[in-house]
Amino acid sequence: MNPKNGLLEQRPYDEVPRVDYVLVGGGLQSGLMALAISHHQPQASWILIEQQEKLAGNHTWSFHATDIPESCSAWAEPLAEYRWPRYEIRVGGRVRTVEIPYRTCSSEHFAKLVMPLAQQAHRRILTNTTVDEIAPTRVTLSDGRRIDATAVIDNRGPVPPNVRNFAGGFQKFWGFELEFNADWPHANPIIMDDQIDQQDGFRFIYTLPMERRRVLVEDTRFSNTPSIDREECLERVRAYVNSRGYHDYRIVREEQGVLPMPTGGSFPGSGLPRLAGGYRGGWFHAATGYSFSMALQVADCVATNPAERLPQALQELSHEHAWRARFARFLNRLLFELVKPKTRYQIFRRFYRVLDEPAIARFYGHRFTPLDAFRMVVGIPPMGLRPFQFLRSYTRLPSARAVIQPSTQPHKVPG
Ligand SMILES: Cc1cc2nc3c(=O)[nH]c(=O)nc-3n(C[C@H](O)[C@H](O)[C@H](O)COP(=O)(O)OP(=O)(O)OC[C@H]3O[C@@H](n4cnc5c(N)ncnc54)[C@H](O)[C@@H]3O)c2cc1C
Repeated sequence: MNPKNGLLEQRPYDEVPRVDYVLVGGGLQSGLMALAISHHQPQASWILIEQQEKLAGNHTWSFHATDIPESCSAWAEPLAEYRWPRYEIRVGGRVRTVEIPYRTCSSEHFAKLVMPLAQQAHRRILTNTTVDEIAPTRVTLSDGRRIDATAVIDNRGPVPPNVRNFAGGFQKFWGFELEFNADWPHANPIIMDDQIDQQDGFRFIYTLPMERRRVLVEDTRFSNTPSIDREECLERVRAYVNSRGYHDYRIVREEQGVLPMPTGGSFPGSGLPRLAGGYRGGWFHAATGYSFSMALQVADCVATNPAERLPQALQELSHEHAWRARFARFLNRLLFELVKPKTRYQIFRRFYRVLDEPAIARFYGHRFTPLDAFRMVVGIPPMGLRPFQFLRSYTRLPSARAVIQPSTQPHKVPG
Protein backbone atom coordinates (compact mmCIF):
# COMPACT_ATOMS: atom_id res chain seq x y z
CA MET A 1 0.00 0.00 0.00
CA ASN A 2 1.04 3.55 -0.58
CA PRO A 3 1.11 5.04 2.93
CA LYS A 4 0.34 8.55 1.64
CA ASN A 5 -2.99 8.01 -0.04
CA GLY A 6 -3.94 4.49 0.99
CA LEU A 7 -3.98 3.28 -2.60
CA LEU A 8 -2.30 0.17 -3.90
CA GLU A 9 1.18 0.86 -5.15
CA GLN A 10 1.10 0.72 -8.95
CA ARG A 11 3.52 -1.08 -11.18
CA PRO A 12 5.41 1.06 -13.70
CA TYR A 13 3.64 1.38 -17.01
CA ASP A 14 6.55 1.61 -19.40
CA GLU A 15 6.30 -2.13 -20.13
CA VAL A 16 2.51 -2.12 -20.71
CA PRO A 17 1.69 -4.25 -23.77
CA ARG A 18 -1.32 -3.45 -25.91
CA VAL A 19 -4.44 -3.83 -23.78
CA ASP A 20 -8.09 -4.46 -24.61
CA TYR A 21 -9.35 -1.22 -23.05
CA VAL A 22 -7.91 2.08 -21.94
CA LEU A 23 -10.34 3.93 -19.65
CA VAL A 24 -9.41 7.59 -19.49
CA GLY A 25 -10.36 9.26 -16.19
CA GLY A 26 -10.85 7.61 -12.83
CA GLY A 27 -14.33 8.86 -11.88
CA LEU A 28 -17.76 7.30 -11.84
CA GLN A 29 -17.96 6.11 -15.45
CA SER A 30 -14.50 4.55 -15.69
CA GLY A 31 -14.90 2.88 -12.30
CA LEU A 32 -18.22 1.34 -13.36
CA MET A 33 -16.69 0.16 -16.63
CA ALA A 34 -13.77 -1.40 -14.73
CA LEU A 35 -16.21 -3.27 -12.48
CA ALA A 36 -18.43 -4.37 -15.36
CA ILE A 37 -15.62 -5.50 -17.67
CA SER A 38 -13.91 -7.39 -14.85
CA HIS A 39 -17.18 -9.18 -14.15
CA HIS A 40 -18.24 -10.02 -17.70
CA GLN A 41 -14.81 -10.50 -19.27
CA PRO A 42 -12.48 -11.51 -16.44
CA GLN A 43 -9.63 -12.18 -18.89
CA ALA A 44 -9.87 -8.79 -20.63
CA SER A 45 -6.95 -6.47 -19.99
CA TRP A 46 -7.58 -2.83 -19.12
CA ILE A 47 -5.78 0.17 -17.85
CA LEU A 48 -7.54 3.03 -16.08
CA ILE A 49 -5.79 6.40 -15.94
CA GLU A 50 -6.59 9.16 -13.45
CA GLN A 51 -4.86 12.51 -13.19
CA GLN A 52 -5.56 12.99 -9.47
CA GLU A 53 -3.80 11.07 -6.72
CA LYS A 54 -6.95 9.14 -5.85
CA LEU A 55 -9.94 7.78 -7.72
CA ALA A 56 -13.52 9.04 -7.77
CA GLY A 57 -13.22 12.66 -6.56
CA ASN A 58 -15.46 13.87 -3.75
CA HIS A 59 -19.05 12.77 -4.30
CA THR A 60 -22.02 11.21 -2.66
CA TRP A 61 -23.74 9.42 -5.53
CA SER A 62 -27.37 8.73 -4.79
CA PHE A 63 -29.63 6.55 -6.87
CA HIS A 64 -32.83 4.56 -6.73
CA ALA A 65 -32.33 0.83 -6.17
CA THR A 66 -34.41 0.42 -9.32
CA ASP A 67 -31.71 2.22 -11.34
CA ILE A 68 -29.65 -0.97 -11.22
CA PRO A 69 -30.91 -3.15 -14.09
CA GLU A 70 -31.12 -6.87 -13.47
CA SER A 71 -28.23 -7.40 -15.91
CA CYS A 72 -25.92 -5.26 -13.73
CA SER A 73 -26.93 -6.41 -10.27
CA ALA A 74 -24.14 -8.98 -9.82
CA TRP A 75 -21.40 -6.35 -10.07
CA ALA A 76 -23.32 -3.17 -9.18
CA GLU A 77 -25.17 -4.16 -5.98
CA PRO A 78 -22.06 -3.74 -3.77
CA LEU A 79 -22.06 -0.04 -4.74
CA ALA A 80 -24.98 0.56 -2.38
CA GLU A 81 -23.10 1.74 0.70
CA TYR A 82 -26.12 3.24 2.47
CA ARG A 83 -29.62 1.86 1.99
CA TRP A 84 -33.04 3.18 2.85
CA PRO A 85 -36.37 1.47 2.12
CA ARG A 86 -38.15 4.70 1.09
CA TYR A 87 -37.84 8.49 1.04
CA GLU A 88 -40.00 11.55 1.48
CA ILE A 89 -40.89 14.54 -0.69
CA ARG A 90 -42.25 17.77 0.85
CA VAL A 91 -43.25 20.20 -1.89
CA GLY A 92 -45.84 22.97 -2.03
CA GLY A 93 -47.40 21.97 1.29
CA ARG A 94 -47.80 18.31 0.29
CA VAL A 95 -45.92 15.40 1.83
CA ARG A 96 -45.46 12.12 0.00
CA THR A 97 -43.62 8.99 1.05
CA VAL A 98 -42.15 7.37 -2.04
CA GLU A 99 -41.87 3.62 -1.58
CA ILE A 100 -38.77 3.13 -3.73
CA PRO A 101 -35.59 1.95 -2.00
CA TYR A 102 -32.93 4.66 -2.12
CA ARG A 103 -29.14 4.14 -2.17
CA THR A 104 -25.98 6.15 -1.80
CA CYS A 105 -22.34 5.46 -2.59
CA SER A 106 -19.49 7.70 -1.43
CA SER A 107 -16.31 8.24 -3.42
CA GLU A 108 -14.32 6.39 -0.73
CA HIS A 109 -16.57 3.36 -0.92
CA PHE A 110 -16.45 3.44 -4.72
CA ALA A 111 -12.63 3.58 -4.76
CA LYS A 112 -12.45 0.67 -2.30
CA LEU A 113 -14.43 -1.49 -4.75
CA VAL A 114 -12.48 -0.48 -7.84
CA MET A 115 -8.86 -0.41 -6.59
CA PRO A 116 -8.55 -4.14 -5.75
CA LEU A 117 -9.49 -5.05 -9.34
CA ALA A 118 -5.98 -3.97 -10.32
CA GLN A 119 -4.37 -6.66 -8.18
CA GLN A 120 -4.63 -8.91 -11.26
CA ALA A 121 -1.62 -8.68 -13.58
CA HIS A 122 -3.68 -7.86 -16.69
CA ARG A 123 -5.41 -4.82 -15.13
CA ARG A 124 -3.85 -1.57 -14.04
CA ILE A 125 -4.83 1.66 -12.39
CA LEU A 126 -2.53 4.62 -12.81
CA THR A 127 -3.15 7.63 -10.59
CA ASN A 128 -1.28 10.95 -10.75
CA THR A 129 -1.13 10.37 -14.52
CA THR A 130 -2.58 12.74 -17.10
CA VAL A 131 -3.67 11.76 -20.59
CA ASP A 132 -2.82 14.46 -23.12
CA GLU A 133 -4.10 12.98 -26.35
CA ILE A 134 -6.78 10.46 -27.13
CA ALA A 135 -7.07 8.53 -30.41
CA PRO A 136 -9.43 5.59 -31.08
CA THR A 137 -6.75 2.99 -30.26
CA ARG A 138 -4.04 4.96 -28.50
CA VAL A 139 -3.53 7.45 -25.68
CA THR A 140 -0.53 9.68 -25.15
CA LEU A 141 0.37 10.58 -21.60
CA SER A 142 1.65 13.99 -20.54
CA ASP A 143 5.22 12.60 -20.33
CA GLY A 144 5.00 11.52 -23.98
CA ARG A 145 4.53 7.79 -23.39
CA ARG A 146 1.86 5.96 -25.36
CA ILE A 147 -0.46 3.09 -24.60
CA ASP A 148 -2.21 1.13 -27.35
CA ALA A 149 -5.58 -0.56 -26.95
CA THR A 150 -8.34 -2.20 -28.95
CA ALA A 151 -10.70 0.47 -27.55
CA VAL A 152 -9.96 3.76 -25.83
CA ILE A 153 -12.91 5.23 -23.94
CA ASP A 154 -12.92 8.87 -22.95
CA ASN A 155 -14.47 9.20 -19.48
CA ARG A 156 -12.84 12.47 -18.47
CA GLY A 157 -16.02 13.91 -16.99
CA PRO A 158 -17.52 17.35 -17.59
CA VAL A 159 -15.77 19.70 -20.00
CA PRO A 160 -14.83 23.10 -18.59
CA PRO A 161 -17.73 25.56 -18.38
CA ASN A 162 -18.79 27.60 -21.34
CA VAL A 163 -21.71 29.53 -19.94
CA ARG A 164 -22.19 31.79 -22.94
CA ASN A 165 -23.11 28.97 -25.31
CA PHE A 166 -25.30 27.09 -22.90
CA ALA A 167 -29.08 26.83 -23.30
CA GLY A 168 -30.77 25.64 -20.15
CA GLY A 169 -30.74 25.83 -16.37
CA PHE A 170 -28.82 24.21 -13.55
CA GLN A 171 -29.31 21.97 -10.60
CA LYS A 172 -26.84 23.42 -8.12
CA PHE A 173 -26.18 22.40 -4.57
CA TRP A 174 -23.83 22.70 -1.64
CA GLY A 175 -23.95 19.86 0.83
CA PHE A 176 -22.65 19.77 4.39
CA GLU A 177 -22.24 16.50 6.19
CA LEU A 178 -23.12 17.32 9.79
CA GLU A 179 -22.41 15.39 12.94
CA PHE A 180 -25.01 16.08 15.65
CA ASN A 181 -24.85 15.25 19.33
CA ALA A 182 -28.43 14.01 19.27
CA ASP A 183 -30.34 11.69 16.93
CA TRP A 184 -31.77 13.15 13.73
CA PRO A 185 -35.54 12.57 13.81
CA HIS A 186 -35.85 11.12 10.29
CA ALA A 187 -34.57 7.64 9.54
CA ASN A 188 -35.09 8.06 5.77
CA PRO A 189 -33.94 10.69 3.27
CA ILE A 190 -36.07 13.73 2.51
CA ILE A 191 -34.98 14.48 -1.00
CA MET A 192 -37.01 17.68 -1.35
CA ASP A 193 -38.18 19.91 1.46
CA ASP A 194 -39.13 23.34 0.12
CA GLN A 195 -40.00 24.87 3.50
CA ILE A 196 -37.22 27.46 3.15
CA ASP A 197 -37.07 30.90 1.55
CA GLN A 198 -37.66 30.61 -2.21
CA GLN A 199 -34.99 32.61 -4.01
CA ASP A 200 -32.85 32.00 -7.09
CA GLY A 201 -35.36 29.65 -8.75
CA PHE A 202 -36.92 26.70 -6.98
CA ARG A 203 -35.00 25.94 -3.81
CA PHE A 204 -35.17 23.10 -1.31
CA ILE A 205 -33.22 21.17 1.30
CA TYR A 206 -32.09 17.58 0.70
CA THR A 207 -31.22 15.40 3.70
CA LEU A 208 -29.53 12.01 3.76
CA PRO A 209 -29.26 10.45 7.21
CA MET A 210 -26.12 8.31 6.77
CA GLU A 211 -26.31 7.49 10.47
CA ARG A 212 -28.69 8.69 13.16
CA ARG A 213 -26.24 11.46 14.10
CA ARG A 214 -24.47 12.00 10.76
CA VAL A 215 -26.57 13.65 8.09
CA LEU A 216 -25.77 15.17 4.70
CA VAL A 217 -27.81 18.38 4.46
CA GLU A 218 -27.79 20.06 1.05
CA ASP A 219 -29.12 23.41 -0.08
CA THR A 220 -30.31 22.69 -3.65
CA ARG A 221 -31.79 24.84 -6.41
CA PHE A 222 -33.12 24.61 -9.94
CA SER A 223 -31.83 27.92 -11.16
CA ASN A 224 -31.18 29.81 -14.40
CA THR A 225 -27.65 30.77 -13.32
CA PRO A 226 -24.66 28.59 -12.40
CA SER A 227 -23.25 30.75 -9.61
CA ILE A 228 -23.29 29.38 -6.09
CA ASP A 229 -22.09 30.84 -2.81
CA ARG A 230 -20.92 28.58 0.00
CA GLU A 231 -21.70 30.97 2.86
CA GLU A 232 -25.20 31.61 1.64
CA CYS A 233 -25.89 27.87 1.31
CA LEU A 234 -24.43 27.24 4.75
CA GLU A 235 -26.71 29.93 6.13
CA ARG A 236 -29.77 28.10 4.71
CA VAL A 237 -28.59 24.77 6.01
CA ARG A 238 -28.03 26.27 9.46
CA ALA A 239 -31.46 27.87 9.46
CA TYR A 240 -33.02 24.55 8.45
CA VAL A 241 -31.39 22.44 11.16
CA ASN A 242 -31.88 25.19 13.78
CA SER A 243 -35.58 25.31 12.98
CA ARG A 244 -35.69 21.61 13.86
CA GLY A 245 -34.05 22.27 17.22
CA TYR A 246 -30.46 21.29 16.30
CA HIS A 247 -27.90 23.91 17.30
CA ASP A 248 -24.97 21.74 18.24
CA TYR A 249 -23.17 20.07 15.31
CA ARG A 250 -19.93 20.03 13.41
CA ILE A 251 -19.27 19.99 9.67
CA VAL A 252 -17.31 16.85 8.81
CA ARG A 253 -17.32 17.05 5.01
CA GLU A 254 -18.61 19.20 2.14
CA GLU A 255 -19.40 18.72 -1.52
CA GLN A 256 -20.81 20.96 -4.18
CA GLY A 257 -22.01 20.65 -7.74
CA VAL A 258 -23.50 22.69 -10.56
CA LEU A 259 -25.13 20.23 -12.92
CA PRO A 260 -26.35 21.23 -16.37
CA MET A 261 -30.03 20.85 -17.27
CA PRO A 262 -29.96 21.58 -21.00
CA THR A 263 -32.95 22.64 -23.06
CA GLY A 264 -31.14 21.81 -26.30
CA GLY A 265 -27.77 20.40 -27.32
CA SER A 266 -26.52 16.98 -28.25
CA PHE A 267 -27.93 13.70 -27.02
CA PRO A 268 -26.08 10.89 -25.26
CA GLY A 269 -23.16 9.60 -27.21
CA SER A 270 -24.03 11.50 -30.38
CA GLY A 271 -21.77 13.54 -32.63
CA LEU A 272 -18.55 12.54 -30.87
CA PRO A 273 -15.28 11.88 -32.65
CA ARG A 274 -14.40 9.03 -30.28
CA LEU A 275 -15.94 6.60 -27.79
CA ALA A 276 -16.97 8.53 -24.72
CA GLY A 277 -18.88 7.62 -21.57
CA GLY A 278 -20.21 9.52 -18.57
CA TYR A 279 -20.57 13.28 -18.68
CA ARG A 280 -17.94 13.55 -21.41
CA GLY A 281 -20.21 11.56 -23.72
CA GLY A 282 -23.39 13.42 -22.70
CA TRP A 283 -24.68 10.33 -20.84
CA PHE A 284 -26.64 12.05 -18.13
CA HIS A 285 -30.33 12.60 -17.38
CA ALA A 286 -30.99 16.08 -18.73
CA ALA A 287 -33.95 16.68 -16.40
CA THR A 288 -32.02 15.90 -13.21
CA GLY A 289 -28.36 16.44 -14.09
CA TYR A 290 -27.72 13.00 -12.57
CA SER A 291 -25.71 10.39 -14.40
CA PHE A 292 -25.51 7.29 -12.21
CA SER A 293 -28.24 5.29 -13.94
CA MET A 294 -26.98 6.05 -17.45
CA ALA A 295 -23.38 5.37 -16.46
CA LEU A 296 -24.47 1.89 -15.33
CA GLN A 297 -26.12 1.22 -18.67
CA VAL A 298 -23.11 2.46 -20.61
CA ALA A 299 -20.75 0.31 -18.50
CA ASP A 300 -22.96 -2.72 -19.09
CA CYS A 301 -23.02 -2.05 -22.82
CA VAL A 302 -19.22 -1.73 -22.97
CA ALA A 303 -18.66 -4.90 -20.95
CA THR A 304 -21.10 -7.10 -22.84
CA ASN A 305 -19.97 -6.24 -26.36
CA PRO A 306 -16.68 -7.09 -28.04
CA ALA A 307 -14.33 -4.10 -28.01
CA GLU A 308 -14.38 -3.97 -31.84
CA ARG A 309 -18.18 -3.57 -31.86
CA LEU A 310 -18.36 -0.75 -29.32
CA PRO A 311 -18.96 2.17 -31.68
CA GLN A 312 -22.04 0.45 -33.04
CA ALA A 313 -23.26 -0.82 -29.63
CA LEU A 314 -23.02 2.63 -28.05
CA GLN A 315 -24.76 4.20 -30.99
CA GLU A 316 -27.64 1.74 -30.58
CA LEU A 317 -27.85 2.60 -26.89
CA SER A 318 -27.86 6.29 -27.77
CA HIS A 319 -30.76 5.74 -30.18
CA GLU A 320 -32.68 3.97 -27.44
CA HIS A 321 -32.31 7.02 -25.22
CA ALA A 322 -32.82 9.71 -27.87
CA TRP A 323 -36.56 10.40 -27.51
CA ARG A 324 -36.27 10.42 -23.72
CA ALA A 325 -33.35 12.82 -23.93
CA ARG A 326 -35.51 15.05 -26.14
CA PHE A 327 -38.44 14.87 -23.74
CA ALA A 328 -36.18 15.64 -20.74
CA ARG A 329 -35.04 18.78 -22.58
CA PHE A 330 -38.64 19.73 -23.12
CA LEU A 331 -39.25 19.36 -19.37
CA ASN A 332 -36.30 21.69 -18.79
CA ARG A 333 -37.83 24.25 -21.13
CA LEU A 334 -41.00 24.01 -19.09
CA LEU A 335 -39.06 24.48 -15.88
CA PHE A 336 -36.61 27.19 -16.89
CA GLU A 337 -38.28 29.08 -19.70
CA LEU A 338 -42.02 28.56 -19.65
CA VAL A 339 -43.03 29.02 -16.03
CA LYS A 340 -42.02 31.78 -13.67
CA PRO A 341 -39.42 30.81 -11.04
CA LYS A 342 -41.98 31.35 -8.28
CA THR A 343 -44.30 28.68 -9.68
CA ARG A 344 -41.65 26.08 -10.50
CA TYR A 345 -42.49 24.10 -7.40
CA GLN A 346 -45.85 23.21 -9.00
CA ILE A 347 -44.10 21.11 -11.62
CA PHE A 348 -42.51 18.95 -8.93
CA ARG A 349 -45.67 18.86 -6.85
CA ARG A 350 -47.60 17.65 -9.86
CA PHE A 351 -44.92 15.10 -10.79
CA TYR A 352 -45.14 13.49 -7.37
CA ARG A 353 -48.93 13.69 -7.36
CA VAL A 354 -49.67 12.04 -10.71
CA LEU A 355 -46.96 9.39 -10.96
CA ASP A 356 -47.00 6.11 -9.10
CA GLU A 357 -43.83 4.49 -7.81
CA PRO A 358 -43.02 2.36 -10.88
CA ALA A 359 -43.36 5.45 -13.12
CA ILE A 360 -41.13 7.54 -10.80
CA ALA A 361 -38.54 4.75 -10.86
CA ARG A 362 -38.67 4.60 -14.67
CA PHE A 363 -38.28 8.37 -14.88
CA TYR A 364 -35.12 8.48 -12.74
CA GLY A 365 -33.71 5.45 -14.52
CA HIS A 366 -34.22 7.17 -17.93
CA ARG A 367 -36.51 4.28 -18.86
CA PHE A 368 -39.84 6.13 -18.87
CA THR A 369 -42.54 5.15 -21.33
CA PRO A 370 -44.48 7.43 -23.71
CA LEU A 371 -47.47 7.05 -21.34
CA ASP A 372 -45.35 8.20 -18.37
CA ALA A 373 -44.26 11.23 -20.41
CA PHE A 374 -47.87 11.96 -21.32
CA ARG A 375 -48.97 11.82 -17.69
CA MET A 376 -46.20 14.19 -16.63
CA VAL A 377 -47.32 17.02 -18.85
CA VAL A 378 -50.98 16.57 -19.68
CA GLY A 379 -53.48 18.09 -17.31
CA ILE A 380 -54.07 21.43 -15.68
CA PRO A 381 -51.11 23.65 -16.58
CA PRO A 382 -49.16 25.12 -13.68
CA MET A 383 -50.06 28.67 -12.67
CA GLY A 384 -47.85 31.22 -14.35
CA LEU A 385 -47.42 29.13 -17.51
CA ARG A 386 -46.80 31.20 -20.60
CA PRO A 387 -49.29 29.48 -22.97
CA PHE A 388 -47.89 30.66 -26.27
CA GLN A 389 -44.32 29.65 -25.49
CA PHE A 390 -45.62 26.38 -24.06
CA LEU A 391 -47.37 25.36 -27.28
CA ARG A 392 -44.45 26.48 -29.38
CA SER A 393 -41.99 24.42 -27.36
CA TYR A 394 -43.83 21.22 -28.32
CA THR A 395 -42.69 21.70 -31.87
CA ARG A 396 -39.30 23.22 -31.20
CA LEU A 397 -36.37 21.01 -32.11
CA PRO A 398 -33.40 20.90 -29.79
CA SER A 399 -31.03 23.72 -30.64
CA ALA A 400 -27.57 23.04 -31.90
CA ARG A 401 -26.09 25.00 -29.05
CA ALA A 402 -23.45 23.20 -27.08
CA VAL A 403 -24.16 21.55 -23.75
CA ILE A 404 -22.35 23.11 -20.84
CA GLN A 405 -20.73 20.69 -18.44
CA PRO A 406 -19.66 22.78 -15.49
CA SER A 407 -16.66 21.97 -13.39
CA THR A 408 -17.23 19.54 -10.54
CA GLN A 409 -13.93 19.99 -8.78
CA PRO A 410 -13.98 18.71 -5.21
CA HIS A 411 -14.15 21.36 -2.56
CA LYS A 412 -11.87 20.99 0.42
CA VAL A 413 -13.30 21.40 3.89
CA PRO A 414 -11.60 24.38 5.51
CA GLY A 415 -9.31 23.65 8.46
C1 LIG B 1 -20.80 16.80 -5.89
C2 LIG B 1 -21.59 16.02 -6.93
C3 LIG B 1 -22.56 15.12 -6.52
C4 LIG B 1 -23.29 14.41 -7.47
N1 LIG B 1 -24.25 13.56 -7.04
C5 LIG B 1 -24.88 12.78 -7.93
C6 LIG B 1 -25.83 11.82 -7.47
O1 LIG B 1 -26.13 11.76 -6.28
N2 LIG B 1 -26.38 10.98 -8.38
C7 LIG B 1 -26.09 11.05 -9.71
O2 LIG B 1 -26.59 10.26 -10.50
N3 LIG B 1 -25.27 12.03 -10.18
C8 LIG B 1 -24.64 12.86 -9.32
N4 LIG B 1 -23.75 13.79 -9.78
C9 LIG B 1 -23.59 13.97 -11.25
C10 LIG B 1 -22.63 12.92 -11.88
O3 LIG B 1 -23.04 11.62 -11.55
C11 LIG B 1 -21.19 13.08 -11.43
O4 LIG B 1 -20.71 14.32 -11.85
C12 LIG B 1 -20.28 11.95 -11.96
O5 LIG B 1 -19.12 11.93 -11.18
C13 LIG B 1 -19.93 12.06 -13.43
O6 LIG B 1 -19.17 10.92 -13.78
P1 LIG B 1 -18.04 10.92 -14.89
O7 LIG B 1 -17.33 9.62 -14.80
O8 LIG B 1 -18.61 11.35 -16.17
O9 LIG B 1 -17.03 12.10 -14.44
P2 LIG B 1 -16.17 12.22 -13.12
O10 LIG B 1 -16.72 11.35 -12.05
O11 LIG B 1 -16.01 13.66 -12.86
O12 LIG B 1 -14.76 11.59 -13.54
C14 LIG B 1 -13.90 12.16 -14.50
C15 LIG B 1 -12.47 11.87 -14.04
O13 LIG B 1 -11.57 12.10 -15.11
C16 LIG B 1 -10.38 12.66 -14.59
N5 LIG B 1 -9.68 13.34 -15.69
C17 LIG B 1 -10.08 14.46 -16.36
N6 LIG B 1 -9.19 14.76 -17.32
C18 LIG B 1 -8.21 13.82 -17.26
C19 LIG B 1 -7.01 13.58 -18.01
N7 LIG B 1 -6.64 14.38 -19.02
N8 LIG B 1 -6.23 12.52 -17.69
C20 LIG B 1 -6.59 11.68 -16.67
N9 LIG B 1 -7.72 11.86 -15.92
C21 LIG B 1 -8.52 12.90 -16.23
C22 LIG B 1 -10.90 13.61 -13.51
O14 LIG B 1 -9.89 13.93 -12.58
C23 LIG B 1 -12.02 12.79 -12.90
O15 LIG B 1 -11.60 12.01 -11.81
C24 LIG B 1 -23.04 14.57 -8.86
C25 LIG B 1 -22.08 15.50 -9.25
C26 LIG B 1 -21.38 16.23 -8.31
C27 LIG B 1 -20.37 17.22 -8.78
